[in-house]
Amino acid sequence: RRPEAAIAVGPLLRLDGISRSFGQTKAVDGVSLEIAQGEFVTLLGDSGCGKTTLLRIVAGYVAPERGRVLLVDRDITALAPARRRMGFVFQSYALFPHLDVGANIAFALRLAGEPMSLRRSRTAELAEMLEIAHLLDRFPHELSGGQQQRVAMARALASSPQLLLLDEPMSALDARIRTRLRDELKALITRIGLTALYVTHDQEEALAMSDRICVMHSGRLEQVGTPAEIYHRPATRFVAEFVGLSNIIDGIADAGGFDAGGEIWPLPSNEARLGAATLVYRPEAIDLSAFRGGGDPRLVGRIERIALLGALQRLWVRTRAGRLVLVERPSVEVEWRAGMAVSLAPDPERGRLLAVAA
Ligand code: ATP
Repeated sequence: RRPEAAIAVGPLLRLDGISRSFGQTKAVDGVSLEIAQGEFVTLLGDSGCGKTTLLRIVAGYVAPERGRVLLVDRDITALAPARRRMGFVFQSYALFPHLDVGANIAFALRLAGEPMSLRRSRTAELAEMLEIAHLLDRFPHELSGGQQQRVAMARALASSPQLLLLDEPMSALDARIRTRLRDELKALITRIGLTALYVTHDQEEALAMSDRICVMHSGRLEQVGTPAEIYHRPATRFVAEFVGLSNIIDGIADAGGFDAGGEIWPLPSNEARLGAATLVYRPEAIDLSAFRGGGDPRLVGRIERIALLGALQRLWVRTRAGRLVLVERPSVEVEWRAGMAVSLAPDPERGRLLAVAA
């Protein structure tokens, strides 16, 4: 029997107060993060938010000015990249143009002085797994973008990395191939139980692939959570704006509801805080009904525009107070027309109150 101590406890990777500047730019600013064995974690953010720099610090290509990188409790902050047991897939694939696919995949094994027989069998196994066995004799320039991406994956996996680092590996592919490869890549990583740190600016990719998402902004982790937490419970205005579409409304939470310049929105359920605040409703959390006058219409508007998105339709509704509200309804609701007067009914269960100033 294996002794209990041999079973990994605690995180596989731990980042402890990592900072790195370039001149006046704080590329990474005090980032701490733990990644568990087998977890798929995404760094999501706009161009320049520091996600590539953070990934390069984990890989060892960039040194942090402050903080430590720990792999299974071992401090590897000063360890050379080649000795970290990490696989790296770059945005541009960076395949060696003068080597055929087989030699590209086996590159790290050759570098490590592995015998020919092992190189052969491992290459064959990976080529099989990534469905590129028929391409082993080709050169990179004879491959499509999607095929190059698979070769890059196989090459990164060749040395059985403990951690796979991926920097926008899909961004050079066109949309359709990207979605398919995304699902395949995720399934593969799950199947072999790999731990992955994935960089992207594509929120849909992040939501679809990740166990946890780290939303990065100006070198900091703005929020870390599961895709559902990030989407349904954004912690900050930035996250609410960056991930998915949101109606973001400034006003005052009081006993009678959320007062936004005379327009009264329902307060989120289970929300007891009162005072100046920001309210968030996702477009699909707002129900519509035709407005026929009368009663005490609190949230009434007119449909300005409708766009069919597929299963959903997006409606732009201008309220009486002049606010443009985004609403998404199932496309089977065929009754909506531009110009119609409608009542808005946001679902309090799905509202979110941010930053109460009190
Ligand atoms: P992108 O998606 O565009 O790659 P990113 O989120 O990965 O962006 P980084 O590449 O990490 O962002 O860059 C973060 C900040 O640090 C940027 O302002 C960038 O200009 C700066 N920076 C990164 N690397 C260097 C460098 N080697 N020298 C100078 N400035 C750098």
